[in-house]
Amino acid sequence: MRNYAAPVRERAKQPVAARRPVRVRLVRLDAFARHAARPLRQAAELTAARALEARARRSGAVCGAALVFHGVALRAGDHDREIDAPAAAAQLDAAVGYLARRYALVRAADLLRAARDRRPGERVPVALTFDDDLPSHREHVAPVLARHGAPATAFLCGAKDPFWWQLLQRAVDDRAVASGDLPPVPASDLAAALERRPGAIARVAGTIERLAPAERDAIAGRLRAAVADPPAVLALADAEALAAAGWELGFHTRRHDLLTALDDDALRAAVAPPAGERSFAYPHGKAAAREAAAARDAGYAAAYTGAPEAVTERTDPHLVGRLQPRVTTVGRFALDLARAVART
Ligand SMILES: [Zn+2]
Repeated sequence: MRNYAAPVRERAKQPVAARRPVRVRLVRLDAFARHAARPLRQAAELTAARALEARARRSGAVCGAALVFHGVALRAGDHDREIDAPAAAAQLDAAVGYLARRYALVRAADLLRAARDRRPGERVPVALTFDDDLPSHREHVAPVLARHGAPATAFLCGAKDPFWWQLLQRAVDDRAVASGDLPPVPASDLAAALERRPGAIARVAGTIERLAPAERDAIAGRLRAAVADPPAVLALADAEALAAAGWELGFHTRRHDLLTALDDDALRAAVAPPAGERSFAYPHGKAAAREAAAARDAGYAAAYTGAPEAVTERTDPHLVGRLQPRVTTVGRFALDLARAVART
């Protein structure tokens, strides 16, 4: 049996300075307690999520949700220093497994019809969507979806070269540009990104996103010349493999321009579906009534924004919001989704 009394008496005789290690031990104990509480918190989150989701399921209300992801990698990215920080494949796997057990997974083109046709007691429909021509759709996401028998939609541009924000990320990560290299991006903003200050690269990307297309092309050209090892894009054969595996391929425009900044003719040309796609995602998730009318006139069944909203009876089929959930833990993911669909 351990003797607890003796060390306490010994410590009591020591001067104050010598007793400091005890405080260190208490801090460690506190960190240990927090770590030990994680499964408890996750269990509480899953219980709360299940109650909300069951309530949504019982109701006769039109409800559903589209979720948007970008890249997926073996390790989760850094949201403070990456424009589109990837989700971790193992965490996505856990989240998709949860969805497959609790929700009705559907393609983006079918989400609104599924939400409207659902009867009380039936599962709430959810559409998984993956934006941009990223090789990780095939490499990391497709195996996860196949494992769970989950359908999904990829919104693709048919890109042959990396997008400007991928080149910007690579250029900053590799320090392949100097702070004054990308006018009209303020040198102070690019310097902060190169110093890896939290949120700085997102500020630079925001500036470039708002430029006129020709100015943005010029910056993309400069970045392309600066980057020695450009990131890969999804190959045509990989997109075809996704379609063969049951993915819906939606359209995301060829150039990924901000549609709200285009004139009417350019807007119409940008949204025209090249291969009869039924679903569309607005570049940068941004659209208003004019862009929605263009997507409707182009014949899409559904067009998706980046507004973090679930589907309701009021959802415009050409302005459907998408939730951008973190999948860091299944409990948090499940609760965020359940709150959105139950509208709490
Ligand atoms: Zn995009």
